[in-house]
Amino acid sequence: MQVALWGGRSRSLHRADLRCTKLGEKMASTRTLPAHENCNHTKYWLTCEQYEELLNACDNQCQTRGRPGTENPPHRKLFIDHDYAYGIWAVRGLLCGRCNGKLTYDKPAPEWAADYLADPWFKRAFAEMGVSIERQPEPPIGSIFKSPKGPTWIRTERCWQNESYAVSTRDWYGMCRDFSPVHLQHIKVATYATGPVRIVLDPARPWDIAEALRRHLSPQQRSAVLHFLGRDDECAL
Ligand SMILES: [Zn+2]
Ligand SMILES: [Zn+2]
Repeated sequence: MQVALWGGRSRSLHRADLRCTKLGEKMASTRTLPAHENCNHTKYWLTCEQYEELLNACDNQCQTRGRPGTENPPHRKLFIDHDYAYGIWAVRGLLCGRCNGKLTYDKPAPEWAADYLADPWFKRAFAEMGVSIERQPEPPIGSIFKSPKGPTWIRTERCWQNESYAVSTRDWYGMCRDFSPVHLQHIKVATYATGPVRIVLDPARPWDIAEALRRHLSPQQRSAVLHFLGRDDECAL
């Protein structure tokens, strides 16, 4: 028996291959409905609804040259094009591979893309939400941001640090590129205590102590506490 797989190849099948055939059919059928096969759009912080809106607005055709998304290799769907100057969340629109490959940040924009580039989706979308797309001033040391993907980021003296993976750090520029202005609105801006602060010093939970120190005390207050505890720096906690 010969069965054509989605790649156009065929191979002979035996009984043992039946499960593979089912998987093949499943994959082949999802490839004809590619929009949410893996919700790749969430990488750009687009919700399913926003992505659908984009797809419908362009009728699933490249926004500059009109090439149908269903013909676009390798996954038969359009690429999500973003403005590198702002960050991953700055989605301009949907393009075929050929056009997407020509709109790179290091080359002058081609003339045929002028109308498209003059009216990027993210500028309209964020204006409608009433959220500024300009980079905001960096919140003070000790400010905390809960990322939509789970980890908490805290601003230390040097950088923004991922609390669950301490070696992962970003500067404010990186934070503004990786998280959309909608997310960054939810930063809990640090306000340092002016009166007494009660911090539970549980030696079994050193990271909690470190976080409490960063959250409640200014850098000067913190170094005074560390000096009192006979520690050189917070990393020793
Ligand atoms: Zn989706
Ligand atoms: Zn195109």
